[in-house]
Amino acid sequence: MKVLVINAGSSSLKYQLYDMKDESVLAAGRVERIGMDTAILTHEPTGKAEVREVSEILDHTTAIRKVLGLLVHKEHGVLDSIADIEAVGHRVVHGGESFRESAIVTPEVKQEIKRLFDLAPLHNPAHMMGIQAVESNLPDVPQAVVFDTAFHQTMDRNVYLYPIPLALYRRHKIRKYGFHGTSHMYVSRQAAAFLGRPIEEMKIVTCHIGNGASVTAVKGGRSVDTSMGMTPLEGLMMGTRSGDLDPAVVPFAMGKEDLTIGEVSSMLNKHSGLLAISGMGDMREVQDAMENGDANAKLAFEMYEYRLRKYIGAYAAAMNGLDAIVFTAGVGENSWLLRARTCLNLSYLGVELDPEANLVRSKEARRISTANSKIDVLVVPTNEELVIARDTYELVKK
Ligand code: AMP
Repeated sequence: MKVLVINAGSSSLKYQLYDMKDESVLAAGRVERIGMDTAILTHEPTGKAEVREVSEILDHTTAIRKVLGLLVHKEHGVLDSIADIEAVGHRVVHGGESFRESAIVTPEVKQEIKRLFDLAPLHNPAHMMGIQAVESNLPDVPQAVVFDTAFHQTMDRNVYLYPIPLALYRRHKIRKYGFHGTSHMYVSRQAAAFLGRPIEEMKIVTCHIGNGASVTAVKGGRSVDTSMGMTPLEGLMMGTRSGDLDPAVVPFAMGKEDLTIGEVSSMLNKHSGLLAISGMGDMREVQDAMENGDANAKLAFEMYEYRLRKYIGAYAAAMNGLDAIVFTAGVGENSWLLRARTCLNLSYLGVELDPEANLVRSKEARRISTANSKIDVLVVPTNEELVIARDTYELVKK
């Protein structure tokens, strides 16, 4: 079965086509600047040259039509016929409390995703555009939705509720949901498999550190706590997001600076984190600047590492123990420096990093702790698209 995986944003759309026979990627690509007459479609067919087209793409339906055209293109294509695509899987950021697992798209499921627009106004409407665009191009192909929040629906009530009036939860479902669930689930299972241990017996902290970043406590294979909250703003310091701060800062800053709700929200989501402290929102740039003696870059890095380390310690406490720490995503997989500094300061837990193993670059899962380390430290490349393809395949097969 060939499964097309779609991650639709408001003005972009990423795709990967899988052959589920061997889970190989036949093609991948992205459309950027949807809505403009200079939209860019980048198509990467496996084993063939990359194609880049600039053209007018005003909506997601046109974007999908162009992608499908390239997938069966004489020269750049990888399929004989569009009919070879037997299922489409979508990434959906927010599943609220309605979705504990992935689901086949039905009118009821679409209705529920729409009901959740309120909780993810930047993401869910864009995912819905992706679903509808596939419907109009491939009306007979079953679609599935895979939620970033679903893995965290196992959190207990005492963990996911905020200590504010319960009426806010009852009326508006204000609570912690958590995100990056597909990634935390995938890397925790990969880690257990790599170590050859049953995940049911393990306590793992997974650190998904990319532009967005979150840490999850995975106990017995279930998410028991995670650092992001009702939205992906809570928790760690990120590229441009603040993460945790005193909630009183918000009304105080609004008053002093005469900010609107929109402005303060933009400040915390887009102009905070690494960017606010160093002037750079990208960890690679921050590290380069730090090497060149930039004091603000050094400060930003230290704040970032400190906040990450606090969460790892907190989750060791939350689970009353820790067997493994897993690093993944752009920063987690690539920044040996962040991993080294974080682990150096976790020696009280018995963490002992192998400095040479930590420097190895690889696309495979690997251990970076010494044989003596009480806690295994691993780098596990994440693969959210593969999880979406697998879930979609399983649901459609049924
Ligand atoms: P992601 O959102 O998972 O794509 O991760 C993006 C982040 O990973 C950006 O902040 C990049 O600067 C960071 N990143 C990628 N490669 C490196 C590297 N070699 N060292 C440090 N950070 C990196």
